[in-house]
Amino acid sequence: MENSFIPSLFSNTPTVKKKREKFDQTVKMGGLETERTTTGWAARDPSGVLTPYTYTLRSTGPEDVFVKVMCCGICHTDLHQAKNDLGMSNYPMVPGHEVVGEVLEVGSDVSKFRVGDIVGVGCIVGCCRNCRPCDSDNEQYCLKKIWSYNDVYTDGKPTQGGFAGSMVVDQKFVVNIPEGMAPEQVAPLLCAGVTVYSPLNHFGLMGSGLRGGILGLGGVGHMGVKIAKAMGHHVTVISSSDKKKVEALEHLGADDYLVSSDAEGMQKAADSLDYIIDTVPVFHPLEPYLSLLKLDGKLILTGVINTPLQFVSPMVMLGRKSITGSFIGSMKETEEMLNFCKEKNLTSMIEVVKMDYINTAMERLEKNDVRYRFVVDVAGSKLDQ
Ligand SMILES: [Zn+2]
Ligand SMILES: [Zn+2]
Repeated sequence: MENSFIPSLFSNTPTVKKKREKFDQTVKMGGLETERTTTGWAARDPSGVLTPYTYTLRSTGPEDVFVKVMCCGICHTDLHQAKNDLGMSNYPMVPGHEVVGEVLEVGSDVSKFRVGDIVGVGCIVGCCRNCRPCDSDNEQYCLKKIWSYNDVYTDGKPTQGGFAGSMVVDQKFVVNIPEGMAPEQVAPLLCAGVTVYSPLNHFGLMGSGLRGGILGLGGVGHMGVKIAKAMGHHVTVISSSDKKKVEALEHLGADDYLVSSDAEGMQKAADSLDYIIDTVPVFHPLEPYLSLLKLDGKLILTGVINTPLQFVSPMVMLGRKSITGSFIGSMKETEEMLNFCKEKNLTSMIEVVKMDYINTAMERLEKNDVRYRFVVDVAGSKLDQ
């Protein structure tokens, strides 16, 4: 089912379907030349169950980097896509967009990367390079961006993500991982980390001393606490239960913890926050959180929710508050964020698993049963042997 509430972010979907059908036809007709192959784990249908799948990669073009995947984080979006929750999935689909790998080969025009470099690849692998977002280092908002998977590349082939032995990626969409950072620690930064960093950067919320709220303590939320703390903010975690209270305060370093059903606590915290990063990827009322914001406070939505949200207008008028959204971050911000995390010695809290555990990991992620991000040890799963 196509969902009409997810507009421009996914607006190229009908074209993707058409292009993908054309590609599948060509494959059936045996029209593609033999190229390098790799093995990934792919979803085949909306059950979302992943099984091994071997496919071809394009040869390394002049601007391309051939990357051997070392590890890849599992993001909530992978779950949405594998299960066709957004009504736009094409199968077979190899998810994964928090990819860290080693450069095995570079194209003739690649100067930024060398063989042996440890690099990262995130949510997008292409853009038009010729629109206002592209011209202003906001390529994540390009209407012709190409997703790392479940999309069609400029050569007409489906894009496939990081739950695979290797990938070929245009150098513009590859970042260097600063030396000394552990690959599995870095993986969650490439989507979850930059998803938090980008709005704080864009809205001028990086100064120390601000008071921030992190709504929802999943993969993005936990990075939110860490990054906001590293910026010197006073951080309040807001959650639906007190289950994660001890962890949030003692392990992640949050300053305060609010349970959203605790009316008294919420009342006490009213008018106290400069911003809230709302990471909750399912329907929830906005008004209780709007009331926590100070004058000019911002509620920043980062979770994909395919149901309309509601609020009454005085909730934003009285206090000149904003409800806004933000989507991952640019390649430039990804680099800045990695350097910031390296400088602050910031780590993520992860559970490393092998590829044969991925279906269990996805099931657990669906139940929010992970502290706080699964990272698949792809190299250790020996997919391409
Ligand atoms: Zn993601
Ligand atoms: Zn563009």
